Amino acid sequence: MMKFALAGNPNSGKTTLFNGLTGSTAHVGNWPGVTVDKKEGVYKKCAEPISIVDLPGIYSLSPYTPEEVISRNFILDEKPDCVINIIDATNLERNLYLSTQILEIDVPMVIALNMIDEVEKSGDVLDAKKLEEKIGVPVVEISALKGRGLDELMTRAYEASRTPRKGRTVLDGTSIVHLIGDCKIALEGQKVDNALFHAVKLVELDELEVKMHPDSAFMVEEFKKTFEDDTFGTDFDAIIADARYKYITKNCSPALVKKVRSADAPSRSDKIDKVLTHKFWGIPIFLLILFALFHLTFSENLLFLGAALPEGWVALEGTALEGVFGDGGINSPGVVLFNLLDLATSSLGEAIAGAMEAGGVSEWAIGLVCDGMLGGVFAVLSFLPQILLLFLFFSILEDSGYMARVAFILDRIFRKFGLSGRAFMPMIMGFGCSVPAMVNTRTLADEKERIATIRVIPFFSCGAKLPILTAIAGGIGLTFGLPHTDLITYGMYVVGIVVAICAVLIMRSTTMKGEVPPFIMELPTYHLPQFKNLMLHLWDKAKHFVQKAFTIILASTIVIWFISHFSWGWNYLPDEQINESILAGVGRLLQPLFTPLGFGSQIGSFGWVFVVAAITGLIAKENVIATFGTLAGCITAGFVADEALEGIDAVASMIGATEIGVPALIAFIVFNMLTIPCFAAVATAKAELGKKRFNMTLVFWVVTSYVVASMFYLIGEWWWTVFIFVAVWAMVITLVILNKQGKINLDVLNPKNVIAKIKTLKK
Ligand code: GDP
Ligand code: MG
Repeated sequence: MMKFALAGNPNSGKTTLFNGLTGSTAHVGNWPGVTVDKKEGVYKKCAEPISIVDLPGIYSLSPYTPEEVISRNFILDEKPDCVINIIDATNLERNLYLSTQILEIDVPMVIALNMIDEVEKSGDVLDAKKLEEKIGVPVVEISALKGRGLDELMTRAYEASRTPRKGRTVLDGTSIVHLIGDCKIALEGQKVDNALFHAVKLVELDELEVKMHPDSAFMVEEFKKTFEDDTFGTDFDAIIADARYKYITKNCSPALVKKVRSADAPSRSDKIDKVLTHKFWGIPIFLLILFALFHLTFSENLLFLGAALPEGWVALEGTALEGVFGDGGINSPGVVLFNLLDLATSSLGEAIAGAMEAGGVSEWAIGLVCDGMLGGVFAVLSFLPQILLLFLFFSILEDSGYMARVAFILDRIFRKFGLSGRAFMPMIMGFGCSVPAMVNTRTLADEKERIATIRVIPFFSCGAKLPILTAIAGGIGLTFGLPHTDLITYGMYVVGIVVAICAVLIMRSTTMKGEVPPFIMELPTYHLPQFKNLMLHLWDKAKHFVQKAFTIILASTIVIWFISHFSWGWNYLPDEQINESILAGVGRLLQPLFTPLGFGSQIGSFGWVFVVAAITGLIAKENVIATFGTLAGCITAGFVADEALEGIDAVASMIGATEIGVPALIAFIVFNMLTIPCFAAVATAKAELGKKRFNMTLVFWVVTSYVVASMFYLIGEWWWTVFIFVAVWAMVITLVILNKQGKINLDVLNPKNVIAKIKTLKK
């Protein structure tokens, strides 16, 4: 099959075009660097089917980041039949910089001038014909978003792919054109493909290139000694960049006639930015927006209006929907949806149980289906509305262009922790799922910054951990009569963020030291999020979550049910004898380990349930609550009246059975949030980090979660232990600061050095 590659700057609309051409639903974001892996799809409307590859966004073909290497190597090695170079027409000059480099490769090429709708809206006039004459490859005006010009683009690309194209350069007439010519001849002599392209990169003394062709690089170095340019001295890299831009401004810019505007009339984006990226208000505004989003998703007392309602008010009292819309306070949309779904699943569960009983099905089969399977799956599914709502809000912020601004305003603070603002995107993505978030760290240029970021991404509580937070917070509310349990949920999110910051700070000043690279990112223009795009995201997310619930989670709950209802001798045990089951045996074995965290030996005979739940979470974090759902049926007897199909009730019944206290429950959330993530995230981390780094990362996760969770438990149970922790942390922080100032050297603590030391001592 023919293969066309989409190449262009980050945020130029590649993925939008890719989706438009292939009908796929890849993630589009108003954020540079959303596509970090290449994606393939098929375009069917030409004479023959064409495979389309969406490459990661790049500014140039001289790679600094891993994603730039992917794109460059694809074009050079896989030899696509045509490269579609997509250009953001509102940023013509910067985008053409990449085009002048692709032009040097021997590959058919067309330019897609995207965002033509924006150009028209601004009143500017673009002359594609003129541009085509100057650049020498077909130029087609399109709007990927509106689906305009896509068929014409593909027709021209298909035509272009029929004739091979020789690379040409815009660097003629520069002071080093002869050097490029000499290198090219030398490379051609060695039968190197794309000699022109490689020759230019060699003259730039591009790192990869120098490694590949050391002898030609030597020639360039020699030439350097005899050469002097008036402006740039011997900085060939700068001479070439300058020549490219000169060519673009002289030849291509005239193709765009700007509408005459009064010199400093600010654009709409500038006006919005005046407020949202304000020096002082920028960060408070961001925090306020975050709070509002969480409030709309989790609050059972919207806008704190509960105080104005009559004592004991319940919405729609006496009807089937009693309490769904509020109970003592008005429910947020997230909670209303949660209640509605819960109502539906519990009636469904009851109906199924009733039908099975009436049909004379045996007791254990009813237990397996209702408690085991439905209990587990429904406990998790009931959180889907809130996960989707939160996800929707984040998608809106991202697609509108606001998130890119947040990275920009946070950069100043991030820098103090040893990160660049760019690290903000993977972290925010972590609230959805750690897997794409870890992959996204490839946009970070500094390797050590990247490792530190990958390690803390799981601390940004993902969608699958949300049921743990909400169900346990709800269980605490139900059992101990605490109001505002949604504050516990926010609080836990904040704990994750704070731990992440501390961990980065410590890593960046000890084992992961390094310069913070400068943060360069151009801010995309604001635009209204696309409804269709948002719905596609949501649909994808919902599909994924439901699929997971009915596959991994369902399978796990069935296993859990069986090993909790059979003894080692494989005899069926009724609910009351669950403590003699295989599961209880295994759980009890590990239980003592968790005593410092509050959910170990001290919580009595049912305490193993918490240990077991945490372990099943290693498969998928939803399992933690699913396990409670599955086991609640057996353990509830006498604690909660109705069937515990819902996560919160299941947790409440566990609390009743074990008499576990609030500090231990909080420690349980903290432990699950910070410890080793689900296996999908673990596999991703392993692939991104390499084996050695990955092993250290596992240790890091276990130690961090254990230490922080036990801190929560101990301080909650015996408040005065806070002095001990403050003292210890003060010491650690002092050491880190002293280390940073160079007064002491903490390198001796680095495991590598410790091992080396022990070895020398042995000798
Ligand atoms: P990529 O990073 O190059 O893959 O870019 P995306 O496809 O993720 O798009 C970046 C942003 O530009 C998104 O917010 C798109 O909605 C927007 N966008 C893409 N194409 C067009 C277009 O033709 N017109 C307008 N106005 N916006 C577009
Ligand atoms: Mg993309």
